[in-house]
Amino acid sequence: MRVPFVDLQAQYQSLKSDLDAAVSRVLSETAFIAGKYSAAFEEQFADYLGAEHCVGVANGTDAIEIALLSVGIGPGDEVLVPANTFFATAEAVANIGAVPVFVDIDPTTYDIDPHLIEAAITPLTKAIIPVHLYGLPAEIERIVSIARKHGLKIVEDCAQAHGATYQGQMVGTFGDAATFSFYPSKNLGAFGDGGAIVTNSDEVRSLARAISNHGQLTKNRHSMIGRNSRLDGIQGAVLSVKLPHLDSWIDARRSRAELYNKLLGGTGIVLPIEPDARRHTYHLYVVRVPERDAAQARLKEAGIDTGIHYPTALPYLEPFARRGYTPNDFPVAHAQMGRLLSLPMYAELTDEMVEHVCTALTAAVATPAGAIA
Ligand SMILES: *Cc1c(COP(=O)(O)O)cnc(C)c1O
Repeated sequence: MRVPFVDLQAQYQSLKSDLDAAVSRVLSETAFIAGKYSAAFEEQFADYLGAEHCVGVANGTDAIEIALLSVGIGPGDEVLVPANTFFATAEAVANIGAVPVFVDIDPTTYDIDPHLIEAAITPLTKAIIPVHLYGLPAEIERIVSIARKHGLKIVEDCAQAHGATYQGQMVGTFGDAATFSFYPSKNLGAFGDGGAIVTNSDEVRSLARAISNHGQLTKNRHSMIGRNSRLDGIQGAVLSVKLPHLDSWIDARRSRAELYNKLLGGTGIVLPIEPDARRHTYHLYVVRVPERDAAQARLKEAGIDTGIHYPTALPYLEPFARRGYTPNDFPVAHAQMGRLLSLPMYAELTDEMVEHVCTALTAAVATPAGAIA
């Protein structure tokens, strides 16, 4: 049995006529950039999250850069980011001339470890970017209270966590601003690149809008140096068709995760956890296995595609490794990077597919590498 890591076709086929009609409307109205379809989605997404404002932009990386600039972060400021996340979180900080400062992760949730935040704060620290990694909310209330105590801004990176909740409240509504990605394989994905900034602040909203549209507050009034980063009409229209299905897709992912948990329980494989009051959306279902690369190869032989998120923790990647970090600087992120394995996860994954993955993975870890001729 073939089990792909993700299956974008399955979702497209399930909504094909609505999606095709939505795209075709945009084409016939030539409503390509920003415009009514992007605006409609912005309003729907803000409503879904329970936030005041949403500003659509070109992708999730731009969203982080623009959100940071909009909350007043600039050159020379230090911004705390988790040691294990997608590269873009730190890249966005560096791209606005600020300095990403890494904080190690919690070994059980993989999110930024709140206990380590205060030790990383210096007089130059201006913001924290908690990432709700894999779809599991970070310990956001605690992080917000640390930030308030030290006068720091919070930009939540929700690229993997659309619809995830902490104490029943949507992630993306806790900080000064939050960012989302609609990259096609994210839990809410467009038909190309797309992103959004979400905020409850009128000021952050209008700055984000202006920065993303050549510094214009109103047409031809370029009051600052901005950039071109807007949400396409096609992406807005596609996202509006998909948004009403997001909760049922999350429920389906959660039921896939439950089945994985049940079938892999007691095998010694370290499973993802969902602490009380946090709703995991399982953008990724990440397990920890001792001989990861061998296990991944064995799954591949059984027709199962897996992923690694991420093979190298950020401090040890070239642009940051020049700072001379040792494994002891981020012991958790460093120790885990060779063990993390992301199993196939999407709403349309069948019971049989999950069973096949679990059987193959259980066999792979039960037989040490090299024991098979
Ligand atoms: C995908 C992702 C981004 C970047 O989003 P793009 O739309 O691909 O630019 C940023 N942060 C995290 C955690 C992501 O997973």
